Amino acid sequence: MRTGIGFDAHRFASGRRLVLGGVEIPWDLGLAGHSDADVLCHAASDAMLGAVAAGDIGMHFPDTDPAWQDADSLDLLRRVRNIVERRGARVVNLDATVLAEAPKLGPYRVAMCEKLSSALQVAPDAVSVKASTMEGMGALGRGEGIAAMAVVLVEQDI
Ligand code: MG
Repeated sequence: MRTGIGFDAHRFASGRRLVLGGVEIPWDLGLAGHSDADVLCHAASDAMLGAVAAGDIGMHFPDTDPAWQDADSLDLLRRVRNIVERRGARVVNLDATVLAEAPKLGPYRVAMCEKLSSALQVAPDAVSVKASTMEGMGALGRGEGIAAMAVVLVEQDI
């Protein structure tokens, strides 16, 4: 058994879609980024890579590479699952927290868990997404962007 941790943050930008955990959320602002800027998928991907000590998503999908422009981060997560599997490991569970003052994410939590569990090819109850706020503190508290953190447990063949 091995664990990995992931963290990511993106700032809000106008004229962008807001995509979290592969789910498009209706909101007047989206997140800025080279890909679709899905912070939840990015944090989950880094946790996966961390669990097998395989670098980070910036290394595998550099934001200087036009191939990843506007990339679907759920697809990047699937690619990361392949990297993990090639190392003889499979995901046991993913737990994540999204930090956002707004919008309220509760109504989208089940859909996000479904997208993530399907991308990771694990049972729905192996994925947990929680939402929290910064109680108005700091940049996230001022609503300048959204952050996500994730931990993943994998089981690796020996
Ligand atoms: Mg990112």
